Order: sequence, then structure tokens, then C-alpha cells
Amino acid sequence: MTRPATSKNRSPPRRRARAARDFDQAPYVVIWETTQACDLACRHCRAEAVPYRHPAELSTDEAKRMLDAIRRFGPVVFVFSGGDALKRPDIVELVEHAARLGLRVAMTPAATPLATPEMVARLKAAGLARLAVSLDGSTPAIHDEFRRVPGSFERAVAILRDAQAIGLSTQVNTAIGRHNVADIDGLCTLMAGLGIVFWEVFFLVPVGRARPEDVASAEEFEAIFHKLYDLSRTAPFDIKATAAPHYARVVLQRKVAERRDGRRGAVPDPLTGGVAFSMQDGIGRARSVNDGDGFLFIGHTGEIMPSGFLPVSAGNVRSADLAQVYRQAPLFRVLRDRSLLKGKCGVCEYLDVCGGSRARAWAVTGDPLEAEPFCAHVPARYRRMVERGEAEPVEEYFRRRIRGSGALPVFQQAPG
Ligand code: SF4
Repeated sequence: MTRPATSKNRSPPRRRARAARDFDQAPYVVIWETTQACDLACRHCRAEAVPYRHPAELSTDEAKRMLDAIRRFGPVVFVFSGGDALKRPDIVELVEHAARLGLRVAMTPAATPLATPEMVARLKAAGLARLAVSLDGSTPAIHDEFRRVPGSFERAVAILRDAQAIGLSTQVNTAIGRHNVADIDGLCTLMAGLGIVFWEVFFLVPVGRARPEDVASAEEFEAIFHKLYDLSRTAPFDIKATAAPHYARVVLQRKVAERRDGRRGAVPDPLTGGVAFSMQDGIGRARSVNDGDGFLFIGHTGEIMPSGFLPVSAGNVRSADLAQVYRQAPLFRVLRDRSLLKGKCGVCEYLDVCGGSRARAWAVTGDPLEAEPFCAHVPARYRRMVERGEAEPVEEYFRRRIRGSGALPVFQQAPG
């Protein structure tokens, strides 16, 4: 009889070191889904965006009160996301308010005709520190097919150029899935010539319009992590893997291998080496951020969630104290306690730096504390547990826990 690996049958975990900031008290980054409205209809859209704004969207005054509450955490990074933030007529006023408060402000507008050079200039004048656009393919054919609007690729590049022409720092976001795993070399080449300070590589989580079959395999994640690491050694920009904390595990494994080969010190640390680029605009980055653990997401109607990819509400900014929800809500507290993680993540030697994507675990199993289903690493300790009959083999473990196999969701999804 096998026993699942949980905190009950292993020794107490080390207390996690928190170097620069206590994520129990304040997030490093807060993302606000300004609106569900967007003129694009991307295949993977987490927000399931539609052309029109929701009638219960936060008003201008409510949004300002939310920004005031966010500022009380400290000078966190704040991202205006969507939908398309430019569908809100008050967006420049809100950027100005956030910047005046002292938040470090970024925005991820959709690549549509709304993002005119004039609008980009107004956003910069209002205090925007960085503008990010999405590019999911190295060619217009790949990108436009994914975004489902011809001309999206050219529009995205034009927005980058417009921002750079007025000295506004730029970033590219790329969603990695089945549609572009074969294009990763082309994407790496493309990024090197775009003049960006930051490339944020999102690994699909099957929520919203993204389906489980759209997600790349664990082995493909692994291969892409290695390519990102290789690129990070020479790229004139910082690279971050989102919804893929196991990239940090690959980085550490590569560094250990390099040290063993006598190449220690020959390369910069990809988790900090690129900070020189992403600190140019004051945005920077932090280590070991995970859903609800240094990361906070607020939906377009004010729902407070651990992540946009983990759409489970722990309260609403209209009626709850934001800091209290982040610090005290059971959902957030358990997500920050890595000793509660299950399966192979719970006994992994990389638990402190990784912890697996809590959003993907929830999306695939219904339990945000489950093991990351798309990680190729099997910890040595877990192998020994399997050998001793104390844990199930990994394939069997996940086969019995994927949604539809009887696993019950632990937390309910936020209202739409
Ligand atoms: S097993 Fe879990 S904690 Fe370990 S590297 Fe993989 S995702 Fe991270």
C-alpha cells in the first residue's frame, strides 16, 4: 500500500530564507485586470476577453482607492493588465494616480489600433515606467494565427518602436504552448534584435480559453528552459519564466554542472545578472515569487486572487481590506507555506527556489497544493520513497489526480 508524500510523512522543512522582502507581509508585484474588454480574441486568453466592458467593472474612484491600498504595501511593482487596458477611457488618469503614489508602473496593452503613438506618449507622460507587448511567434504567420487578428505582429513591433522612440522602456511577453514550441529558436533570435529590457516567457496554464492539450509537455518545458538559460548568458535583456518556477531549478542545475566542469564564475547568474537591464526603469524583479507568494492579482470586478492563472477569489477590494486578505486569507496563507506542498514537490530539494506552479497544479488537479504536473524532475527523495513503497510512481500519482479522475477542487473558482 503506497502512501502519498505529504508534510506528515517527512521531516519538517527548512524555514525558507526570504532575502530582501517578506512576502508574508507584502507582494513584490500586483497585477490588475483593468477590464475584460479587448478587440483581440487570442486562442489562449486567460481572461476570456470579449469586446465589451463588464458593467460591474471597478469604477475610476474604486480603482483609485484600490491603488491607494496597494501603495500601503510599499513601492511595489504594479501592472495594468487586461483584457486591453486601453479600452478604459480613464486609463491615463489611473496611470498618473499610480505613479504619483510612487508605484512602479508597467502596462501590457493589446496590440490594436488603440495603442497609437499619441497614447503611448500620454502614458509615458503620466508616469508609465515600462510598456509590454505580446509576441508569440517569430513571424507574422505564427503570431497572427495565435492572436487571431492579421497584422497583430506588425502592430506589436510598431508599438515597441513608438515607445522606444520616446525613451519608454519596453518588454515582450510570450506565451509558450504547443503552437510555438518549435519556434523557440526563432523567438530567441527575434528578441535579441528588439531593443527590449525584459523578455517574460509565460508557460501556458490551462485556464480561460487555454486547453490542457495546448500546454507543452514537461520535456518540452525542460528543453526550452535550457535554451532560455543559454540565451541569458549573452542577451542584452533580462529573461523571466512565468508560471514556470522550475526554470530556477534548471538554472541551479546548470550552474552546479558548470562549477563541476571548472567553469564557475565564467557566466553571470541568470536570476540576477539581467537585473542591470530590468532595473534601468526601476521595475526590477524578485526571486522565488509564486502565486499568492509575492504575487497578487485583482480581477476587473475587484476579486482578489493569488494569480490570474489561479482564478480563485479570497475577497473583493470593494468590501475587504486588501492587505488583510493578502496576509491572512487561508488561500494565501497556505500558498505561502511550502511545507504543505504535496507529492514530489513536497519533498523536492529545489522546493525553496521553485515550488512548482501553484496555478497549473490547481488547473490540472483542482488542488493548488498538488505537485507541479509539468515538471520533468523527480527528486531523489521521491525516488527512494517510491522504491520503499511509500509513494506512487509519478505517472500513477498524476493519473489519479487530474481533473475528472475523482479529485475534488479544494477552492472554488472566482465568479466570472
Ligand atoms: S518537483 Fe516541484 S519543486 Fe521540484 S523542481 Fe519540479 S516543480 Fe519544482
